[in-house]
Amino acid sequence: MKTQLYIGGRWQDASDGGTFDVLNPADESVLATVASGTVADAMAALDAADAAFDDWRSRKPRERSEILRRAFELFSKRLEHFARLITLENGKARADAMGEAAYSAEFFRWYAEEAVRTEGHLGHAPASGARILVHQKPAGIAVLVTPWNFPAAMGTRKIAPALAAGCPVVIKPASETPLTMLELMPLLEEAGVPPGVVNVLPSRSSGAVVGAMLKDPRVRVVSFTGSTEVGRKLLHAAADTVVKPAMELGGNAPFIVFEDADLDAAADGLMVAKMRNQGEACTAANRIYVHEAVEEPFVERYVARMAALKMGNGLEEGIDVGPLVNAETRDKVAHFVDDAVAKGATVRLGGQRPNVPGFFYPPTVLTKVPDDAECLHDEIFGPVAAIQSFRDEREVIEKANATIYGLVAYLYTGDMRRGLRVSEALDFGMVGLNRGLVSDPAAPFGGTKQSGLGREGAKEGMLEFMETQYISTTW
Ligand code: NAP
Repeated sequence: MKTQLYIGGRWQDASDGGTFDVLNPADESVLATVASGTVADAMAALDAADAAFDDWRSRKPRERSEILRRAFELFSKRLEHFARLITLENGKARADAMGEAAYSAEFFRWYAEEAVRTEGHLGHAPASGARILVHQKPAGIAVLVTPWNFPAAMGTRKIAPALAAGCPVVIKPASETPLTMLELMPLLEEAGVPPGVVNVLPSRSSGAVVGAMLKDPRVRVVSFTGSTEVGRKLLHAAADTVVKPAMELGGNAPFIVFEDADLDAAADGLMVAKMRNQGEACTAANRIYVHEAVEEPFVERYVARMAALKMGNGLEEGIDVGPLVNAETRDKVAHFVDDAVAKGATVRLGGQRPNVPGFFYPPTVLTKVPDDAECLHDEIFGPVAAIQSFRDEREVIEKANATIYGLVAYLYTGDMRRGLRVSEALDFGMVGLNRGLVSDPAAPFGGTKQSGLGREGAKEGMLEFMETQYISTTW
Protein backbone atom coordinates (compact mmCIF):
# COMPACT_ATOMS: atom_id res chain seq x y z
CA MET A 1 0.00 0.00 0.00
CA LYS A 2 1.17 3.52 -0.81
CA THR A 3 1.13 5.66 2.32
CA GLN A 4 3.21 8.75 1.48
CA LEU A 5 2.30 12.04 -0.17
CA TYR A 6 2.61 12.07 -3.96
CA ILE A 7 4.01 15.42 -5.11
CA GLY A 8 5.63 16.18 -8.46
CA GLY A 9 5.78 12.46 -9.26
CA ARG A 10 7.70 11.63 -6.06
CA TRP A 11 6.65 9.81 -2.90
CA GLN A 12 7.52 11.69 0.25
CA ASP A 13 6.77 11.98 3.96
CA ALA A 14 4.96 14.99 5.38
CA SER A 15 7.30 17.95 5.98
CA ASP A 16 6.78 17.64 9.73
CA GLY A 17 6.78 13.83 9.72
CA GLY A 18 3.10 13.73 10.78
CA THR A 19 0.93 10.70 10.09
CA PHE A 20 -2.56 9.38 10.78
CA ASP A 21 -4.08 5.92 10.93
CA VAL A 22 -6.58 4.48 8.47
CA LEU A 23 -8.90 1.89 10.03
CA ASN A 24 -10.54 -1.18 8.56
CA PRO A 25 -14.22 -0.57 9.43
CA ALA A 26 -14.95 -4.33 9.39
CA ASP A 27 -12.82 -5.02 12.48
CA GLU A 28 -11.55 -1.59 13.64
CA SER A 29 -7.90 -2.65 13.12
CA VAL A 30 -5.30 -0.21 11.75
CA LEU A 31 -4.94 -0.83 8.01
CA ALA A 32 -2.19 1.68 7.31
CA THR A 33 -0.45 4.75 8.70
CA VAL A 34 -0.49 7.54 6.16
CA ALA A 35 1.52 10.77 5.84
CA SER A 36 -0.51 13.82 6.89
CA GLY A 37 0.27 16.69 4.51
CA THR A 38 1.03 20.14 5.94
CA VAL A 39 0.51 23.63 4.53
CA ALA A 40 4.18 23.54 3.38
CA ASP A 41 3.45 20.27 1.53
CA ALA A 42 0.36 21.84 -0.03
CA MET A 43 2.50 24.71 -1.33
CA ALA A 44 5.02 22.20 -2.71
CA ALA A 45 2.15 20.41 -4.48
CA LEU A 46 1.00 23.70 -6.01
CA ASP A 47 4.59 24.42 -7.15
CA ALA A 48 4.70 21.01 -8.81
CA ALA A 49 1.31 21.55 -10.48
CA ASP A 50 2.38 25.01 -11.62
CA ALA A 51 5.61 23.69 -13.09
CA ALA A 52 3.67 21.00 -15.01
CA PHE A 53 0.89 23.26 -16.29
CA ASP A 54 2.47 24.78 -19.43
CA ASP A 55 3.58 21.46 -20.83
CA TRP A 56 0.29 19.72 -20.03
CA ARG A 57 -1.99 22.38 -21.46
CA SER A 58 0.05 22.61 -24.66
CA ARG A 59 -0.06 18.86 -25.35
CA LYS A 60 -2.30 18.08 -28.30
CA PRO A 61 -5.79 16.98 -27.22
CA ARG A 62 -5.18 13.64 -28.93
CA GLU A 63 -2.14 13.03 -26.73
CA ARG A 64 -4.05 13.83 -23.53
CA SER A 65 -6.87 11.66 -24.81
CA GLU A 66 -4.59 8.68 -25.39
CA ILE A 67 -3.08 8.96 -21.92
CA LEU A 68 -6.59 8.94 -20.44
CA ARG A 69 -7.53 5.98 -22.61
CA ARG A 70 -4.49 4.06 -21.32
CA ALA A 71 -5.55 4.94 -17.77
CA PHE A 72 -8.97 3.41 -18.53
CA GLU A 73 -7.41 0.25 -19.92
CA LEU A 74 -4.98 -0.17 -17.02
CA PHE A 75 -7.72 0.47 -14.47
CA SER A 76 -10.01 -2.02 -16.20
CA LYS A 77 -7.34 -4.70 -15.84
CA ARG A 78 -7.02 -3.98 -12.10
CA LEU A 79 -10.64 -3.76 -11.03
CA GLU A 80 -10.28 -6.59 -8.50
CA HIS A 81 -7.24 -4.95 -6.96
CA PHE A 82 -8.92 -1.57 -6.58
CA ALA A 83 -12.17 -3.13 -5.38
CA ARG A 84 -10.30 -4.95 -2.61
CA LEU A 85 -8.67 -1.74 -1.43
CA ILE A 86 -12.00 0.11 -1.55
CA THR A 87 -13.60 -2.59 0.63
CA LEU A 88 -10.67 -2.58 3.05
CA GLU A 89 -10.76 1.13 3.75
CA ASN A 90 -14.44 1.96 3.18
CA GLY A 91 -16.13 -1.29 4.21
CA LYS A 92 -18.57 -1.67 1.31
CA ALA A 93 -19.23 -5.21 0.11
CA ARG A 94 -17.18 -6.65 -2.74
CA ALA A 95 -19.94 -6.41 -5.37
CA ASP A 96 -20.46 -2.74 -4.53
CA ALA A 97 -16.71 -2.14 -4.62
CA MET A 98 -16.42 -3.86 -8.02
CA GLY A 99 -19.26 -1.64 -9.25
CA GLU A 100 -17.43 1.44 -8.00
CA ALA A 101 -14.13 0.34 -9.56
CA ALA A 102 -15.75 -0.17 -12.97
CA TYR A 103 -17.60 3.16 -12.68
CA SER A 104 -14.34 4.91 -11.73
CA ALA A 105 -12.50 3.53 -14.77
CA GLU A 106 -15.29 4.71 -17.07
CA PHE A 107 -14.52 8.37 -16.33
CA PHE A 108 -11.10 7.91 -17.95
CA ARG A 109 -12.74 6.37 -21.04
CA TRP A 110 -15.45 9.03 -21.26
CA TYR A 111 -13.02 11.96 -20.91
CA ALA A 112 -10.51 10.35 -23.29
CA GLU A 113 -13.34 10.75 -25.79
CA GLU A 114 -14.30 14.26 -24.64
CA ALA A 115 -10.70 15.56 -24.67
CA VAL A 116 -10.80 15.70 -28.48
CA ARG A 117 -14.28 17.23 -28.70
CA THR A 118 -13.76 20.77 -27.38
CA GLU A 119 -15.74 23.24 -29.43
CA GLY A 120 -16.23 26.97 -29.75
CA HIS A 121 -18.28 29.16 -32.02
CA LEU A 122 -18.05 32.11 -34.31
CA GLY A 123 -20.50 34.99 -34.12
CA HIS A 124 -21.03 38.26 -35.90
CA ALA A 125 -21.56 41.38 -33.78
CA PRO A 126 -24.79 42.85 -35.14
CA ALA A 127 -23.87 46.55 -34.85
CA SER A 128 -20.10 46.74 -35.34
CA GLY A 129 -19.75 43.81 -37.70
CA ALA A 130 -16.80 42.48 -35.65
CA ARG A 131 -16.31 38.74 -35.53
CA ILE A 132 -16.83 37.07 -32.15
CA LEU A 133 -14.56 34.07 -31.79
CA VAL A 134 -15.41 31.96 -28.74
CA HIS A 135 -13.28 29.10 -27.43
CA GLN A 136 -12.48 27.25 -24.21
CA LYS A 137 -9.14 27.30 -22.38
CA PRO A 138 -7.94 25.24 -19.39
CA ALA A 139 -8.84 27.25 -16.29
CA GLY A 140 -5.64 26.58 -14.33
CA ILE A 141 -4.63 24.53 -11.30
CA ALA A 142 -7.57 22.70 -9.74
CA VAL A 143 -7.81 21.70 -6.08
CA LEU A 144 -9.95 18.58 -5.70
CA VAL A 145 -11.41 17.52 -2.34
CA THR A 146 -13.20 14.18 -2.12
CA PRO A 147 -15.32 12.24 0.43
CA TRP A 148 -14.90 8.72 1.79
CA ASN A 149 -18.01 7.11 0.38
CA PHE A 150 -16.61 6.45 -3.11
CA PRO A 151 -12.82 6.48 -2.55
CA ALA A 152 -12.04 5.90 -6.25
CA ALA A 153 -14.98 7.27 -8.22
CA MET A 154 -15.22 10.68 -6.54
CA GLY A 155 -11.55 11.17 -7.49
CA THR A 156 -11.61 9.90 -11.08
CA ARG A 157 -14.83 11.85 -11.75
CA LYS A 158 -12.76 15.01 -11.14
CA ILE A 159 -9.26 13.99 -12.30
CA ALA A 160 -10.32 12.72 -15.74
CA PRO A 161 -12.17 15.88 -16.88
CA ALA A 162 -9.50 18.16 -15.37
CA LEU A 163 -6.76 16.33 -17.28
CA ALA A 164 -8.83 16.25 -20.46
CA ALA A 165 -9.27 20.03 -20.16
CA GLY A 166 -5.51 20.56 -19.68
CA CYS A 167 -5.51 21.38 -15.95
CA PRO A 168 -3.06 19.98 -13.38
CA VAL A 169 -4.59 19.00 -10.04
CA VAL A 170 -3.88 18.61 -6.33
CA ILE A 171 -6.28 16.13 -4.78
CA LYS A 172 -7.00 15.85 -1.07
CA PRO A 173 -8.77 12.54 -0.43
CA ALA A 174 -10.87 11.93 2.67
CA SER A 175 -8.86 10.91 5.72
CA GLU A 176 -10.97 7.77 6.22
CA THR A 177 -10.08 6.52 2.72
CA PRO A 178 -6.86 7.94 1.22
CA LEU A 179 -5.33 4.60 0.14
CA THR A 180 -7.29 4.03 -3.08
CA MET A 181 -6.38 7.44 -4.49
CA LEU A 182 -2.69 6.93 -3.65
CA GLU A 183 -2.82 3.53 -5.34
CA LEU A 184 -4.07 5.19 -8.52
CA MET A 185 -0.85 7.20 -8.94
CA PRO A 186 1.46 4.42 -10.24
CA LEU A 187 -1.29 3.57 -12.73
CA LEU A 188 -1.46 7.16 -13.97
CA GLU A 189 2.34 7.25 -14.26
CA GLU A 190 2.23 4.06 -16.34
CA ALA A 191 -0.48 5.60 -18.52
CA GLY A 192 1.86 8.52 -19.25
CA VAL A 193 0.63 11.31 -16.95
CA PRO A 194 3.73 13.53 -16.45
CA PRO A 195 5.04 14.35 -12.94
CA GLY A 196 3.23 17.24 -11.27
CA VAL A 197 0.03 16.93 -13.31
CA VAL A 198 -1.67 14.93 -10.54
CA ASN A 199 -0.57 15.36 -6.93
CA VAL A 200 -2.16 13.62 -3.93
CA LEU A 201 -2.12 15.18 -0.52
CA PRO A 202 -3.75 13.18 2.25
CA SER A 203 -4.02 15.35 5.34
CA ARG A 204 -5.66 15.29 8.72
CA SER A 205 -5.50 19.13 8.69
CA SER A 206 -7.95 19.44 5.84
CA GLY A 207 -9.21 22.92 6.73
CA ALA A 208 -5.73 24.46 7.01
CA VAL A 209 -4.29 22.71 3.97
CA VAL A 210 -7.22 23.34 1.60
CA GLY A 211 -7.67 26.87 2.98
CA ALA A 212 -4.02 27.73 2.25
CA MET A 213 -4.29 26.40 -1.30
CA LEU A 214 -7.42 28.45 -1.97
CA LYS A 215 -5.56 31.61 -0.89
CA ASP A 216 -2.91 31.00 -3.57
CA PRO A 217 -3.77 32.93 -6.73
CA ARG A 218 -2.42 30.11 -8.94
CA VAL A 219 -5.43 27.97 -7.98
CA ARG A 220 -8.34 28.69 -10.32
CA VAL A 221 -10.80 25.85 -9.62
CA VAL A 222 -11.95 24.15 -6.45
CA SER A 223 -13.94 21.01 -7.07
CA PHE A 224 -15.42 19.57 -3.90
CA THR A 225 -17.59 16.57 -3.14
CA GLY A 226 -18.78 16.20 0.42
CA SER A 227 -21.18 17.62 2.93
CA THR A 228 -23.12 20.83 2.41
CA GLU A 229 -21.63 22.12 5.67
CA VAL A 230 -18.02 21.87 4.44
CA GLY A 231 -19.10 23.02 0.95
CA ARG A 232 -20.35 26.29 2.45
CA LYS A 233 -16.98 26.83 4.16
CA LEU A 234 -15.12 26.25 0.90
CA LEU A 235 -17.41 28.65 -0.95
CA HIS A 236 -16.53 31.31 1.63
CA ALA A 237 -12.82 30.54 1.26
CA ALA A 238 -13.05 30.55 -2.55
CA ALA A 239 -14.62 34.01 -2.49
CA ASP A 240 -11.37 35.68 -1.35
CA THR A 241 -9.48 34.75 -4.51
CA VAL A 242 -12.62 34.37 -6.67
CA VAL A 243 -11.85 30.71 -7.40
CA LYS A 244 -14.29 28.91 -9.68
CA PRO A 245 -16.27 26.47 -7.50
CA ALA A 246 -17.76 23.11 -8.44
CA MET A 247 -19.70 21.70 -5.49
CA GLU A 248 -21.26 18.24 -5.23
CA LEU A 249 -22.91 18.36 -1.82
CA GLY A 250 -25.46 16.52 0.25
CA GLY A 251 -28.81 15.11 -0.80
CA ASN A 252 -32.12 14.12 0.76
CA ALA A 253 -33.62 12.13 -2.08
CA PRO A 254 -37.36 11.42 -2.22
CA PHE A 255 -38.42 8.09 -3.72
CA ILE A 256 -42.08 8.10 -4.82
CA VAL A 257 -44.13 5.02 -5.64
CA PHE A 258 -47.44 5.84 -7.34
CA GLU A 259 -50.43 3.50 -7.19
CA ASP A 260 -50.01 2.60 -10.88
CA ALA A 261 -46.34 1.54 -10.52
CA ASP A 262 -44.98 -1.93 -11.18
CA LEU A 263 -44.41 -2.75 -7.50
CA ASP A 264 -41.71 -5.38 -8.10
CA ALA A 265 -39.77 -3.00 -10.32
CA ALA A 266 -40.19 -0.25 -7.71
CA ALA A 267 -38.98 -2.53 -4.90
CA ASP A 268 -35.96 -3.56 -7.01
CA GLY A 269 -35.30 0.11 -7.81
CA LEU A 270 -35.46 1.04 -4.14
CA MET A 271 -32.97 -1.70 -3.31
CA VAL A 272 -30.48 0.05 -5.58
CA ALA A 273 -31.43 3.61 -4.61
CA LYS A 274 -31.27 2.80 -0.89
CA MET A 275 -28.69 0.05 -0.58
CA ARG A 276 -25.99 0.90 -3.12
CA ASN A 277 -22.98 1.55 -0.91
CA GLN A 278 -25.15 0.36 2.07
CA GLY A 279 -26.92 3.71 1.99
CA GLU A 280 -23.75 5.80 2.26
CA ALA A 281 -24.44 7.75 -0.91
CA CYS A 282 -25.53 11.31 -1.60
CA THR A 283 -27.97 9.75 -4.07
CA ALA A 284 -29.48 7.37 -1.48
CA ALA A 285 -33.28 7.36 -1.25
CA ASN A 286 -33.85 9.10 2.07
CA ARG A 287 -37.61 9.77 2.16
CA ILE A 288 -39.77 7.06 0.67
CA TYR A 289 -43.35 8.00 -0.23
CA VAL A 290 -45.69 5.16 -1.19
CA HIS A 291 -49.28 5.71 -2.32
CA GLU A 292 -51.61 4.52 0.44
CA ALA A 293 -53.44 2.16 -1.93
CA VAL A 294 -50.27 0.10 -2.50
CA GLU A 295 -48.38 0.72 0.73
CA GLU A 296 -48.75 -2.73 2.27
CA PRO A 297 -48.04 -4.82 -0.87
CA PHE A 298 -45.05 -2.61 -1.63
CA VAL A 299 -43.67 -2.79 1.92
CA GLU A 300 -44.03 -6.60 1.94
CA ARG A 301 -42.04 -6.88 -1.28
CA TYR A 302 -39.38 -4.49 -0.05
CA VAL A 303 -38.98 -6.06 3.40
CA ALA A 304 -38.55 -9.49 1.77
CA ARG A 305 -35.72 -8.14 -0.38
CA MET A 306 -34.02 -6.33 2.53
CA ALA A 307 -34.34 -9.39 4.79
CA ALA A 308 -32.50 -11.52 2.23
CA LEU A 309 -29.35 -9.37 2.48
CA LYS A 310 -26.36 -10.82 4.31
CA MET A 311 -24.29 -8.50 6.48
CA GLY A 312 -20.61 -9.09 7.25
CA ASN A 313 -17.03 -8.36 6.27
CA GLY A 314 -17.28 -7.01 2.74
CA LEU A 315 -14.33 -9.09 1.55
CA GLU A 316 -16.14 -12.36 2.26
CA GLU A 317 -18.05 -14.25 -0.40
CA GLY A 318 -21.84 -13.80 -0.36
CA ILE A 319 -21.83 -10.61 1.74
CA ASP A 320 -24.21 -7.88 0.52
CA VAL A 321 -23.88 -5.31 3.29
CA GLY A 322 -20.56 -4.34 4.84
CA PRO A 323 -19.89 -2.13 7.85
CA LEU A 324 -20.43 1.63 7.78
CA VAL A 325 -17.30 3.71 7.43
CA ASN A 326 -16.76 4.70 11.05
CA ALA A 327 -18.27 4.69 14.52
CA GLU A 328 -19.68 8.20 14.14
CA THR A 329 -21.63 7.28 11.00
CA ARG A 330 -22.91 4.06 12.60
CA ASP A 331 -23.98 5.92 15.76
CA LYS A 332 -25.73 8.61 13.72
CA VAL A 333 -27.72 5.96 11.84
CA ALA A 334 -28.68 4.26 15.11
CA HIS A 335 -29.76 7.64 16.49
CA PHE A 336 -32.01 8.31 13.46
CA VAL A 337 -33.75 4.95 13.98
CA ASP A 338 -34.18 5.43 17.73
CA ASP A 339 -35.51 8.95 17.20
CA ALA A 340 -38.06 7.83 14.57
CA VAL A 341 -39.22 4.90 16.71
CA ALA A 342 -39.55 7.12 19.80
CA LYS A 343 -41.76 9.43 17.74
CA GLY A 344 -44.02 6.58 16.59
CA ALA A 345 -42.46 4.84 13.56
CA THR A 346 -43.00 1.08 13.16
CA VAL A 347 -39.95 -1.17 12.78
CA ARG A 348 -40.63 -3.74 10.03
CA LEU A 349 -37.05 -5.04 9.85
CA GLY A 350 -33.76 -4.54 11.69
CA GLY A 351 -33.42 -1.54 13.96
CA GLN A 352 -30.96 -3.04 16.44
CA ARG A 353 -27.24 -2.37 16.41
CA PRO A 354 -25.37 -5.70 16.63
CA ASN A 355 -22.88 -6.19 19.44
CA VAL A 356 -19.88 -7.19 17.31
CA PRO A 357 -16.57 -5.51 16.41
CA GLY A 358 -16.76 -3.33 13.30
CA PHE A 359 -19.11 -0.48 12.46
CA PHE A 360 -22.11 -2.60 11.45
CA TYR A 361 -25.76 -1.58 11.25
CA PRO A 362 -28.33 -3.97 9.76
CA PRO A 363 -30.74 -3.35 6.86
CA THR A 364 -33.70 -1.64 8.49
CA VAL A 365 -37.20 -0.77 7.28
CA LEU A 366 -39.38 1.76 9.11
CA THR A 367 -42.97 2.57 8.19
CA LYS A 368 -45.39 5.21 9.46
CA VAL A 369 -42.42 7.51 10.00
CA PRO A 370 -43.79 10.78 11.42
CA ASP A 371 -43.07 14.10 9.71
CA ASP A 372 -40.94 15.33 12.59
CA ALA A 373 -38.55 12.34 12.56
CA GLU A 374 -35.00 13.64 12.10
CA CYS A 375 -34.22 11.06 9.41
CA LEU A 376 -36.63 12.78 7.00
CA HIS A 377 -34.75 16.07 7.28
CA ASP A 378 -31.13 14.96 7.30
CA GLU A 379 -29.13 12.43 5.27
CA ILE A 380 -29.42 9.01 6.93
CA PHE A 381 -26.27 7.71 5.19
CA GLY A 382 -26.95 4.12 6.19
CA PRO A 383 -29.08 1.05 5.36
CA VAL A 384 -32.31 2.44 6.78
CA ALA A 385 -35.45 2.87 4.66
CA ALA A 386 -37.91 5.44 6.09
CA ILE A 387 -41.36 5.01 4.54
CA GLN A 388 -44.42 7.28 4.63
CA SER A 389 -47.68 6.99 2.70
CA PHE A 390 -49.38 9.69 0.62
CA ARG A 391 -52.74 10.28 -1.00
CA ASP A 392 -52.35 12.50 -4.06
CA GLU A 393 -49.86 13.75 -6.61
CA ARG A 394 -49.80 17.40 -5.60
CA GLU A 395 -49.29 16.54 -1.93
CA VAL A 396 -46.34 14.27 -2.65
CA ILE A 397 -44.65 16.78 -4.97
CA GLU A 398 -44.91 19.43 -2.25
CA LYS A 399 -43.46 17.06 0.34
CA ALA A 400 -40.67 15.93 -1.96
CA ASN A 401 -39.65 19.53 -2.72
CA ALA A 402 -39.80 20.65 0.93
CA THR A 403 -36.05 20.38 1.55
CA ILE A 404 -32.99 22.58 1.20
CA TYR A 405 -31.47 19.82 -0.96
CA GLY A 406 -32.03 19.19 -4.65
CA LEU A 407 -29.70 16.43 -5.79
CA VAL A 408 -31.85 13.55 -7.01
CA ALA A 409 -35.43 12.31 -6.83
CA TYR A 410 -36.87 8.95 -7.92
CA LEU A 411 -40.37 8.06 -8.98
CA TYR A 412 -42.13 4.95 -10.16
CA THR A 413 -45.33 5.08 -12.19
CA GLY A 414 -46.91 3.11 -15.03
CA ASP A 415 -48.09 6.31 -16.69
CA MET A 416 -45.33 8.04 -18.62
CA ARG A 417 -47.28 11.31 -18.94
CA ARG A 418 -47.53 11.46 -15.18
CA GLY A 419 -43.87 10.44 -14.91
CA LEU A 420 -42.67 13.33 -17.03
CA ARG A 421 -45.11 15.81 -15.49
CA VAL A 422 -43.99 14.96 -11.95
CA SER A 423 -40.29 14.83 -12.96
CA GLU A 424 -40.52 18.38 -14.24
CA ALA A 425 -42.25 19.56 -11.06
CA LEU A 426 -39.52 18.06 -8.85
CA ASP A 427 -36.87 20.64 -7.99
CA PHE A 428 -33.90 18.30 -8.27
CA GLY A 429 -30.89 18.22 -10.58
CA MET A 430 -31.52 14.57 -11.48
CA VAL A 431 -34.60 12.36 -11.62
CA GLY A 432 -34.71 8.57 -11.80
CA LEU A 433 -37.97 7.87 -13.63
CA ASN A 434 -38.69 4.17 -13.13
CA ARG A 435 -34.96 3.76 -12.37
CA GLY A 436 -33.15 3.52 -9.04
CA LEU A 437 -29.75 4.56 -10.41
CA VAL A 438 -28.87 7.83 -12.15
CA SER A 439 -25.05 7.86 -11.99
CA ASP A 440 -23.40 7.57 -15.40
CA PRO A 441 -20.19 9.14 -16.75
CA ALA A 442 -22.14 10.27 -19.81
CA ALA A 443 -24.75 12.16 -17.75
CA PRO A 444 -24.42 15.56 -16.01
CA PHE A 445 -24.44 14.63 -12.31
CA GLY A 446 -25.29 17.40 -9.86
CA GLY A 447 -27.89 19.15 -7.80
CA THR A 448 -29.95 22.28 -7.37
CA LYS A 449 -30.43 24.38 -4.21
CA GLN A 450 -27.98 23.47 -1.41
CA SER A 451 -26.95 20.22 -3.10
CA GLY A 452 -24.37 22.08 -5.10
CA LEU A 453 -23.13 24.10 -8.02
CA GLY A 454 -21.98 22.73 -11.35
CA ARG A 455 -22.04 19.24 -12.83
CA GLU A 456 -19.74 16.23 -13.05
CA GLY A 457 -19.64 13.79 -15.93
CA ALA A 458 -20.80 14.43 -19.49
CA LYS A 459 -19.61 17.44 -21.50
CA GLU A 460 -20.63 19.71 -18.62
CA GLY A 461 -18.10 18.08 -16.27
CA MET A 462 -15.19 19.18 -18.44
CA LEU A 463 -16.47 22.76 -18.69
CA GLU A 464 -16.00 23.09 -14.91
CA PHE A 465 -12.25 23.03 -15.62
CA MET A 466 -12.33 25.46 -18.55
CA GLU A 467 -12.75 29.18 -19.03
CA THR A 468 -14.52 30.72 -21.98
CA GLN A 469 -12.44 33.22 -23.91
CA TYR A 470 -13.82 35.42 -26.63
CA ILE A 471 -11.66 37.18 -29.22
CA SER A 472 -13.13 40.23 -30.95
CA THR A 473 -11.66 40.77 -34.38
CA THR A 474 -12.42 41.88 -37.91
CA TRP A 475 -11.22 40.62 -41.25
P1 NAP B 1 -17.15 15.94 4.48
O1 NAP B 1 -17.02 15.82 5.94
O2 NAP B 1 -17.72 17.17 3.92
O3 NAP B 1 -15.66 15.71 3.91
C1 NAP B 1 -15.40 15.70 2.54
C2 NAP B 1 -13.96 16.10 2.31
O4 NAP B 1 -13.76 17.43 2.76
C3 NAP B 1 -12.94 15.24 3.03
O5 NAP B 1 -11.82 15.10 2.21
C4 NAP B 1 -12.62 16.08 4.25
O6 NAP B 1 -11.34 15.84 4.79
C5 NAP B 1 -12.66 17.45 3.66
N1 NAP B 1 -12.88 18.51 4.63
C6 NAP B 1 -13.52 18.44 5.83
N2 NAP B 1 -13.52 19.66 6.42
C7 NAP B 1 -12.87 20.50 5.59
C8 NAP B 1 -12.56 21.88 5.64
N3 NAP B 1 -12.91 22.65 6.67
N4 NAP B 1 -11.89 22.42 4.60
C9 NAP B 1 -11.53 21.67 3.56
N5 NAP B 1 -11.80 20.35 3.44
C10 NAP B 1 -12.47 19.77 4.45
O7 NAP B 1 -18.00 14.78 3.83
P2 NAP B 1 -17.88 13.22 4.06
O8 NAP B 1 -18.41 12.93 5.41
O9 NAP B 1 -16.52 12.73 3.69
O10 NAP B 1 -18.87 12.67 2.92
C11 NAP B 1 -20.22 12.58 3.09
C12 NAP B 1 -20.92 13.74 2.42
O11 NAP B 1 -20.56 13.83 1.06
C13 NAP B 1 -22.42 13.56 2.42
O12 NAP B 1 -23.06 14.77 2.78
C14 NAP B 1 -22.74 13.22 0.97
O13 NAP B 1 -24.04 13.54 0.58
C15 NAP B 1 -21.72 14.00 0.25
N6 NAP B 1 -21.49 13.45 -1.08
C16 NAP B 1 -21.97 14.14 -2.15
C17 NAP B 1 -21.82 13.64 -3.43
C18 NAP B 1 -22.34 14.38 -4.61
O14 NAP B 1 -21.90 14.08 -5.71
N7 NAP B 1 -23.24 15.34 -4.46
C19 NAP B 1 -21.15 12.43 -3.61
C20 NAP B 1 -20.67 11.74 -2.50
C21 NAP B 1 -20.85 12.28 -1.24
P3 NAP B 1 -11.15 14.91 6.09
O15 NAP B 1 -11.61 13.57 5.69
O16 NAP B 1 -9.70 15.00 6.37
O17 NAP B 1 -12.00 15.51 7.17
